[in-house]
Amino acid sequence: MSLTDPLPFSTTPPARCDSVWRGATLVTMQDGHYNLIENGAIVVADGKIVWLGPVADCPPFPDAEQHEFAGGIITPGFVDCHTHLVFGGNRSGEFEQRLNGVSYAEIAASGGGIISTVNATREATEEELIESALFRLRPLLAEGVTCVEIKSGYGLSIDSELKMLRVIRTLATRLAVEVKSTCLAAHALPPEYKNRPDEYIRLICDTLLPIVARENLADAVDAFCEHLAFSPAQVEQVFNAAKALGLPVKLHAEQLSSLHGSALAARHGALSADHLEYATEDDAIAMAAGGTVAVLLPGAFYLLREKQQPPVAFFRQHKVPMALASDANPGTSPVLSLRLMLNMGCTLFGLTPEEALAGVTCHGARALGLQDSHGTLAPGKAADFIHWPLSRPAELVYWLGGELPCTVVYRGNVRGNHYL
Ligand SMILES: [Zn+2]
Repeated sequence: MSLTDPLPFSTTPPARCDSVWRGATLVTMQDGHYNLIENGAIVVADGKIVWLGPVADCPPFPDAEQHEFAGGIITPGFVDCHTHLVFGGNRSGEFEQRLNGVSYAEIAASGGGIISTVNATREATEEELIESALFRLRPLLAEGVTCVEIKSGYGLSIDSELKMLRVIRTLATRLAVEVKSTCLAAHALPPEYKNRPDEYIRLICDTLLPIVARENLADAVDAFCEHLAFSPAQVEQVFNAAKALGLPVKLHAEQLSSLHGSALAARHGALSADHLEYATEDDAIAMAAGGTVAVLLPGAFYLLREKQQPPVAFFRQHKVPMALASDANPGTSPVLSLRLMLNMGCTLFGLTPEEALAGVTCHGARALGLQDSHGTLAPGKAADFIHWPLSRPAELVYWLGGELPCTVVYRGNVRGNHYL
């Protein structure tokens, strides 16, 4: 927090408003810092913040709905900018097998691993996929997520990828949450294309992505750049096809080895490069130049018991914004709590609590291209915020597990339990 930063609110009061929320400390997260306003007020009209500042400076607005808090803090709604929440089945059986001593190779040989999720996802109906995704979304929403990104990538065929993307679009209509959809067809090589990765990449570029763009099924295109997935050259083809269709790109990069996918993503102006345990200083410099957010995913790092930490010091030094996300997925990160990721981002990766909170608010929003409408408390932003009966923002990072009581406001309305 800096006391010298300019105050993040305009001094002109709005002409009219729907609701006023008073009496808590505002954790605005402007510019990635706490930027606290003690005993603050937020004025909302048409689902957007139209004014905020100290209660003492807030006009009365007698006709508006009045909400009084007796202390506590208000943060921006949380943004989970990297999830794979839509999938068939789950891999808890495999998790148990591994802990019973069965090797990865044996599990893969018996049809386990990502292919088991691909098969279950292909077999599931859209309604089954919606129901199982809702089961996983609800806990995330209960602790304050107001915006979530969800990727495809377990269909790996034209029909099944389109099915996943339609399910993601439908989820946005089932719960009071902003949903961004990402096409991750280049997630793994489908069994039908064994030893023919270039043909699969051509199918994505020439057939799938044009349909996705025409039917407005995705807001971005992602790929997995890794020895066990796709090469930088193959990823670049996907990026070129996406950009020709006007779709922004992002990339799973440097999770298990260094292929400089993050620098490639940055050269293509990617919204984000994600994982990044093996990223180098040169990658960080390229990401800073490209305006690419570093999305850190401590859940997968934890579950895989990885040792290589992402180069947080280089990201700090070169001013690469760092986001944190759940990476909720059946294989490597069955995470249903973004607040747990705040703690793990600090304990496992060495983030400060302020950086961690910025990672699920303003920088998480930037990783989705939503920096102008989400992620901070500021006039003009969506009225998505959370009231917590806590004394300081670090408590959000400090308490480990459990459920903290909170009041979630989504587009200016209290999001009740009937959504959950
Ligand atoms: Zn992922």
